[in-house]
Amino acid sequence: MKQALSLLADIANGIFAVLLAGYFSGTEILWWYFLIGIPLAMCPDLDALPELLKRGRVGSSAEHTYDHRDGLHFPILFLVTGLLLTYLFPFFGLLFLFATALHFINDLYGTGWGIQLLWPLSKTRYKVLGRRVNWAKRQLVETGVWDNLPSDERKLRLVVAWKEVELPDYIRKWGVDDWIDLVYCHFNWISAIEYSLFILAIILLFINLI
Ligand SMILES: [Zn+2]
Repeated sequence: MKQALSLLADIANGIFAVLLAGYFSGTEILWWYFLIGIPLAMCPDLDALPELLKRGRVGSSAEHTYDHRDGLHFPILFLVTGLLLTYLFPFFGLLFLFATALHFINDLYGTGWGIQLLWPLSKTRYKVLGRRVNWAKRQLVETGVWDNLPSDERKLRLVVAWKEVELPDYIRKWGVDDWIDLVYCHFNWISAIEYSLFILAIILLFINLI
């Protein structure tokens, strides 16, 4: 049940995508467009489905080192597909572009080990506003890790990058299997942003439907 909390950001992304696609294509918004926009905003995470069905949860840690984002999280691929779709079907193409772009932006700052922003040119993972150990400072301090952490790893970076060869070691050492509880059942800047976006999106949805 707690897993549903991690879906709220994509529900918001799908609603925003419908509103943006409607605005930029000059299309009047119909209620059922939201039933398309929300699944589209979730569709990059289809690569998590095999793991979810097999383990009943999704996460990268020492227990499970494979990260599902190696399967479908390739923004350039979605960008090219979206541009082609926009040429053929302006509204639905834009909807696809906005929905998937907002998903990837969320993956860049939110939970998880970033995305392969430049695939197929590079398999390096990128994330913004984080540490290479991928833990919040409070988490590092509370577990007593902070004092012994090299200063290079303590540093909060604007852009975090993990090369393909080094990511598995970081996941093994720093991956947290119960990340949903850690992030979504506590107050932190990721849960604050995602819950705020969800509330804003629901308000905009009602304004557009009534
Ligand atoms: Zn994702």
